[in-house]
Amino acid sequence: MPETLPGSLQQKIEERLRYYQDLGIQLFYRNRLTEPGREQPASEVKVEQRIERTEEIPLPKREVRAAIAAKIPSSPPVIPIIAAPGPSLFDAADKVQDDTLPKIREDIGDCTRCKLHKGRNKIVFGDGNPKAELVFIGEGPGADEDIQGLPFVGRAGKLLTQMIEAMGLQRKDVYICNVVKCRPPQNRAPEPDEVETCSPYLIRQIDVINPKVLVCLGAVAAKTLLETTKGITQFRGQWLEWRGRKLMATYHPAYLLRNPAAKGEVWKDLQKVMAELGLQAPKKKSS
Ligand code: SF4
Repeated sequence: MPETLPGSLQQKIEERLRYYQDLGIQLFYRNRLTEPGREQPASEVKVEQRIERTEEIPLPKREVRAAIAAKIPSSPPVIPIIAAPGPSLFDAADKVQDDTLPKIREDIGDCTRCKLHKGRNKIVFGDGNPKAELVFIGEGPGADEDIQGLPFVGRAGKLLTQMIEAMGLQRKDVYICNVVKCRPPQNRAPEPDEVETCSPYLIRQIDVINPKVLVCLGAVAAKTLLETTKGITQFRGQWLEWRGRKLMATYHPAYLLRNPAAKGEVWKDLQKVMAELGLQAPKKKSS
């Protein structure tokens, strides 16, 4: 029969455990000193005496405990990886020695590696600061981009420019690119084989630029990079991890053109990015 502790002692132990919990201490180890028949080295006896003395110290009041707990810094947030289990589309990408953006563009050449080449006018490689701390990633070029060969230049692109400026940056400060470099027909989402074929270029771009933060614009880019089937609303606005980098997924500017009410949500996401990068919104000019 296991021995039960007297009620008052049990209550004291519970209070003590709650006190440690308030301080953020959650792991406890069994005190081997109490094992029957075990010889106690002198050093351990001292520890035991110290423990006994501690028992005599009365517990601080609940408010005091709360104040102590509030002063203890919380552990760093855990950044979840939400990819579905299994091999990653992006694992196969090899690091290229002394890589540069012009070298990557040269390697793409007049690419016919996937079926998207059939309907494209121009390859949309990417645009912006080659040393940007912040990279925006969309899913693929649209009609305007396909004609001009530049990412995010249509109506959605103009809204993205406004968003970047609201963050206290210019377009030339950031880098903008897409998961696939050629326009999918009828603006459909890129298919897995197209992403698989084109993604090594995106990974090389990110490795060369080495940004602090990636922002995925829209469900397709986010779900493609994160290799998840979860809806974007389940992870939008949370810091996530992608190949060792911080990633924030938010809504695509094209979605915001159709749903202006969601702009507030996107602005909250971008404010998190600003805080991460130490940016401040520009002061509004007085009229
Ligand atoms: S989408 Fe990428 S892989 Fe496919 S043809 Fe264009 S550049 Fe090549």
